[in-house]
Amino acid sequence: MLTYFRNIGQGISTIVNSMAVASLHLFKPSVTLQYPKERWALPERSRMRLHNKIEDCIGCGQCARTCPTDCIIVKTEKRDKEEPPVYASDGTAKKLRTYVFDIDMALCCYCGLCTFACPTQCLVMTADYEYSVYDINDHVYHFAKEKPLTVAGSTEQSPLKG
Ligand code: SF4
Ligand code: SF4
Repeated sequence: MLTYFRNIGQGISTIVNSMAVASLHLFKPSVTLQYPKERWALPERSRMRLHNKIEDCIGCGQCARTCPTDCIIVKTEKRDKEEPPVYASDGTAKKLRTYVFDIDMALCCYCGLCTFACPTQCLVMTADYEYSVYDINDHVYHFAKEKPLTVAGSTEQSPLKG
């Protein structure tokens, strides 16, 4: 009988204590984020999605060689000597025509190594994290804008995928 009443007392004590703890939080500001109406301010150097400012890309392939998951494909060909010179915004001559620059963000591990390897700093990590898709193939981004003039003499800077 004594155990019976002791258990009831412990039950009541537990409820009172837990209600006391819970009531303390009634007067504190809410920490629940009402996404998507509200969004966290991300840190300045967040690594969420890659972007290549292709106008400044010289097709060197450093990014593809650095990538641990082989998710960057770069295909280039040499520009003809007769063609007018083209330069990146930092003055680097663009001796190669980059006609394929693909990144498969579904394979990317967000390490950021490719951005450090890029000599013209055209490859950057952005803080954009809202890019869900229904088809995983839509995570392959195609940045190249130029077309190859000749396939012969072209080079590929990463294993063939996709
Ligand atoms: S962030 Fe890392 S895994 Fe993603 S493309 Fe760059 S090097 Fe590859
Ligand atoms: S390292 Fe930079 S410049 Fe070189 S191919 Fe990659 S994105 Fe282009």
